[in-house]
Amino acid sequence: MKFADLHVHTFYSDSTFSPEEVVSCARDKGLAAIAICDHDSVDGIVPCTKLGREMGVEIIPGIELTIEKADAEIHILGYFMDYETAWFGEKLREIQKARIERIHRMVEKLNAEGIAVKSEDVFALAGKGTVGRLHLAQAMLKTGKVATFKDAFDKYIGFNKPCYAANIKFTPKEAIETLLKIGGVPVMAHPNVTDKDECIPELIEYGLRGIEVYHTDHKPGVTKHYETLAKEKGLLMTGGSDCHGLGKGRVLLGGVRVPYDIVDGLREESEKIRHEYR
Ligand code: AMP
Ligand code: ZN
Ligand code: FE
Ligand code: FE
Repeated sequence: MKFADLHVHTFYSDSTFSPEEVVSCARDKGLAAIAICDHDSVDGIVPCTKLGREMGVEIIPGIELTIEKADAEIHILGYFMDYETAWFGEKLREIQKARIERIHRMVEKLNAEGIAVKSEDVFALAGKGTVGRLHLAQAMLKTGKVATFKDAFDKYIGFNKPCYAANIKFTPKEAIETLLKIGGVPVMAHPNVTDKDECIPELIEYGLRGIEVYHTDHKPGVTKHYETLAKEKGLLMTGGSDCHGLGKGRVLLGGVRVPYDIVDGLREESEKIRHEYR
């Protein structure tokens, strides 16, 4: 049987892994396919696709967008979208710029709390990737004032914590419509981590097509709950490891994988969306 990991990051966002490391790791784990889902970036897709052809791993184009509501931060995965669409690229560049500015704001707040992080160090950790809070957390750990990633997020930079700063917001409707316009299949990422099930009906109204039932941070009971919910709402059930290389301590790639049928389901859904929206 063939398997796929549908949620993988590269160093084009906040994974420590290069495309070479991602694709060779997927090959070594015996995966038939992986989806590259960087935060607000599609830059990893072309290099991974090229390497995937050489190493016999199918690369599914994907992305992970962040949307914010007053009381929630929700991640939306997109699959099989036309990632080379010019206006979409421009929108991503705008968000990437705002992410840089946002780091400066969070660093200021952290400095005021006595945590001496420097923006330059955070940008150095991000390298050519979309900079984000995982890089900031890594810089915070280096100061020695924060013991763990969990502390960094729970005490300081988690959603609405004292040193958090908002990103440019895609509203839920904009994020989902953006993906649909370019043939992408919008899927709610790690719903249990997000813990906002009450938002799901609204997302479905905007065109959500799937839900990430299987995820590294989903315990078995939780998975069952989302399987039932997906069946009830007619949503595709996807799954992935959300591997960040060593960015979250250990390599998760392939730890969560789904049967390859799910990939076909997403591809067919993308075709349907293309017929509906063009
Ligand atoms: P950003 O894109 O800058 O909002 O940062 C998102 C990254 O931070 C992702 O890799 C998330 O998995 C990670 N993240 C967000 N909240 C937490 C948390 N409470 N604990 C650990 N990692 C988190
Ligand atoms: Zn991430
Ligand atoms: Fe996420
Ligand atoms: Fe992710």
